[in-house]
Amino acid sequence: MESSPKNRSQRYSLLGIPVDAVDFDTMLARMDTMIAEKQRGYFFPINPIKCVLIQTNNQLAETARNAELNFPDAAGIVWALRLLYGVKTGRVPGYEFLHHALRHAAQREYRVYLLGAKENVIRQSVSVLRQQYSGVRIVGWHHGYLSDPDTADAAIRAVNEAQPEMVFVGMGAGKQDRIIDRILRETSVPFAMGVGGSFDVIAGTAPRAPKVLLDNGLEWLYRLLLQPRRIRPMINLPKFVWLVIREKFWRRSYT
Ligand code: UDP
Repeated sequence: MESSPKNRSQRYSLLGIPVDAVDFDTMLARMDTMIAEKQRGYFFPINPIKCVLIQTNNQLAETARNAELNFPDAAGIVWALRLLYGVKTGRVPGYEFLHHALRHAAQREYRVYLLGAKENVIRQSVSVLRQQYSGVRIVGWHHGYLSDPDTADAAIRAVNEAQPEMVFVGMGAGKQDRIIDRILRETSVPFAMGVGGSFDVIAGTAPRAPKVLLDNGLEWLYRLLLQPRRIRPMINLPKFVWLVIREKFWRRSYT
């Protein structure tokens, strides 16, 4: 376990991946510092499937290694930290952090940019969020279909010209990480974060799981029922449990 002097949250190694035992307030405070001191970076949600993929996917491993914070987005990570280190930290779902951050942004008058999802979805999300967080300064938005290099360049230019303090990118894992990397290298934005399919939920085109499932860490089960294609990566879940147990009892070093 390491205590990071920058954010004073506890950082633990989980299968070789640094994971920060943070809560929403710690994350907001860290975000404030990044914005105030223009330290550019992103927060990265960690879940069991990613932990397994990172073992063999260098790109994903690098994304986790370079993140300002790797936060426990899933119940499995909370379980693993407890088993390995006895840490009683809570789950911080990325979707909920997005809402905390937007409420906070409205209070602090931060400039916010939203990037991702289909044109009608992102437009509807902006309108919903402006109603929900009165005074929030959404200074621009762009859809997330950027496979054409000219469209991607135009989106990056649009972000840069809007001069936001925070950018939320909802384009799905992988794609959003690559765009965040470009935003942080090519613009002066201090804070960015990937939010997956959050804009679909905000716009109302995808339902969020019922509260009883959310409260029991079973959101993944709900998403699986709605989109059976999500079953494939789940073959990694038993592997995650096995790797964590092996780390606990055989103390395999991932250095
Ligand atoms: N999306 C996008 N650009 C793309 C592909 C997907 O903006 O090229 C959006 C899509 O409209 C949806 C989100 O990215 O809003 C993907 O959400 P998904 O739930 O698949 O991502 P996950 O959270 O599983 O990574």
